[in-house]
Amino acid sequence: MPVLNRAAELHDEVAGWRRHIHAHPELGFDLPGTANFVAERLREFGCDQVETGIGQSGIVAVIKGNRGDGPTIGLRADMDALPIVETSGAGHASGTLGIMHACGHDGHTAMLLGAAKYLAETRNFSGTCVLIFQPAEEIGQGAKAMIDDGVLDRFGIDRVFGMHNMPGLKAGSFAIKPAGIMGSVSRFTLRVIGVGGHAARPNATVDPIVIASQIITALQTIVGRNTDPVSSVVVSVTSMAAGTAFNIIPEQAEMLGTVRTLEAAQVEETRAAIERIAQGIAAAHGATVEFEFDNPATVTFNHGAETDLAANVAADIAGEAGTDRDAKPVLAGEDFSHMLNARPGAFIFIGNGESAGLHHPAYDFNDAIIPQGISYWVRLTETALKPAT
Ligand SMILES: [Zn+2]
Ligand SMILES: [Zn+2]
Repeated sequence: MPVLNRAAELHDEVAGWRRHIHAHPELGFDLPGTANFVAERLREFGCDQVETGIGQSGIVAVIKGNRGDGPTIGLRADMDALPIVETSGAGHASGTLGIMHACGHDGHTAMLLGAAKYLAETRNFSGTCVLIFQPAEEIGQGAKAMIDDGVLDRFGIDRVFGMHNMPGLKAGSFAIKPAGIMGSVSRFTLRVIGVGGHAARPNATVDPIVIASQIITALQTIVGRNTDPVSSVVVSVTSMAAGTAFNIIPEQAEMLGTVRTLEAAQVEETRAAIERIAQGIAAAHGATVEFEFDNPATVTFNHGAETDLAANVAADIAGEAGTDRDAKPVLAGEDFSHMLNARPGAFIFIGNGESAGLHHPAYDFNDAIIPQGISYWVRLTETALKPAT
């Protein structure tokens, strides 16, 4: 089955919303314009309930089906942009220098609004559909903030579903897989504390730059020598800062880095290995190390039955040829993982076609895939909440 007729009719209107959101990007939890725009549309549609300020700036809309009682599903979109100077040259490009929708959250929000409009008109399901518009995905805090504010419990959500566009995947096609589809994201800081002094008298110092260099090199052995070779782990040091002048050995050297993996058990194992190696090397040279580590996004883990349901709905819209049921996972992270830790559900990719990559300054969401995105949400709702016959 191709896209729904009504979804095709909504195409221009939803593309207009998408471009409006794109032209007015906002960051993190600070989304006054975007959240207002979303809440106004949801109220216009006649949703049964629209609540704002959940998880600081999240919005929840409730639509009850008119085919009797049933369970409750949650459909989630993210609303925040990124601190990037846009170079897309599009007519609807960001009007705020240094902030842009480079991850397509403008498209995610608009497509879920389109689905809300459709579902509020038709209500051809039993039970309840809860639409979740989440802030602060890019800083890995919004999903958790909404969960901590009770979004899953207060609205009685039984299962949750999410969607993200994917550049390079054929426009309007879908890709999903059971189990880990996106990586766990951890961040770490390693601060080597030595003894500073004159560059001409290194013997009177404990040089943190030399020690940090050895730590960076030694960390490369974690994946090669400590990690089970059938697991996927990334350990990257992504920033290194030390020193102020050519003739001073500094007191401190600070490294930032990230750990990515598709297996929850690897997070703690890798954390422990980083700490052990850094402490050991620092101790060998008479320095100390301060180590901080956190895990803002866990593995985005798709549950089996919900993945099958999502893939079958995708195949209804894009055909089997347009539905990859064994997608290659990616090690980028997604804070929807926290919702999948709390409830069964599934996260699916929708192809954005041959566009610039996510987080690239020339990226733009592909408006041509809006009917497929709306159709997916609508069909998913009508299938998951199918009335008993
Ligand atoms: Zn992103
Ligand atoms: Zn994103």
